[in-house]
Parts: sequence; C-alpha cells; structure tokens
Amino acid sequence: MERTLILLKPDAVQRDLVGEIISRLERKGLKLVGLKLMSLSSELLDEHYSHLVGRPFFPEVKSFMQRTPVVAICVEGYKCVDAVRLLAGVTNSREATPGTIRGEFAMSVQANLIHCSDSLETALVEVPRFFKSEELFEYNDTLQDYVYN
Ligand code: ADP
Repeated sequence: MERTLILLKPDAVQRDLVGEIISRLERKGLKLVGLKLMSLSSELLDEHYSHLVGRPFFPEVKSFMQRTPVVAICVEGYKCVDAVRLLAGVTNSREATPGTIRGEFAMSVQANLIHCSDSLETALVEVPRFFKSEELFEYNDTLQDYVYN
C-alpha cells in the first residue's frame, strides 16, 4: 500500500468543491488516513515548491496558496500515487481530460484546485512534511476487500 499527499487549494475551498473532491477520492476506493485544514507558511511553501523557485510565476503561486487555508489529505491505497495523479488531471486545467478533477471543474494553470504528489519518492517526503505521525491513522476499512478483490 502507498500513501500520497493531496492539498485542496484555496480555489477549491472558495468554490465549495472540497466535498465534491473528497467524495471522488472516497468513491474511487481510496482510504482517508489524514485530513485537516491548515494555513501554509512562506517557509513551508518554499520547501514544497522548491522546484519552482526562480520561475517568474513562483511569487504568485505562493500568494495564491496563502489566500485561504488549504485542506491537507493523506490517502492510502494500492499504487495510489499514480491513481490520484490520474484523478487530478494535468497541470493546465484547460487541457485536462474531461472527467478528471481539473478537467471537470477548472480553467486555469495556477488555480487548478488540487496538489498531489507526483511520485512515490515525492510522496514519502511530502506526507511527513504536512502530517505529524499522530495525525495519520491506521484502521480497518471493511470495504477494502471489495475495492481490490
Ligand atoms: P503539478 O501541481 O501539476 O504537479 P507543478 O509542480 O509543475 O504542477 O506546479 C505546481 C503548481 O504551480 C501548479 O499546480 C500550478 O498551480 C502552479 N503553476 C505551474 N506552472 C505555472 C504557470 N506557468 N503559471 C502559473 N502557475 C503555475
């Protein structure tokens, strides 16, 4: 089983899409193991988006991500890192496949509703960046047998 980090960005919060997106994760069969609202500090964003430091749009990305609290989610599932990327759709929402979260609900590159870890290696760094170990839960999800078998 893998775990991956998801952030529902300020546009998802403002547009009342939090429930819709969480519902999609649940309906897919992913198990929620961490869930909270949080405000992102400048330092945390510098770390999280370190691959974008120096890009002209980086300051805008940072201020956008600080406009409201975000919803941080950790889900667990078999090969879930790639599965969640597919659910989200590509970065540019206008080019995202219909049916994906970005393809269905967004029209922007920056305001694209959701962040999700881009690989298992990234997820292993990002989950502990946003969640303390006591904020992540292990429990028996009785439906998992029916999701995977
Ligand atoms: P993703 O979130 O799809 O993994 P990146 O890691 O490349 O994509 O970029 C992080 C975030 O920065 C994007 O989700 C988007 O919100 C923002 N972003 C990326 N490229 C641009 C751009 N050219 N202009 C404005 N914002 C951008």
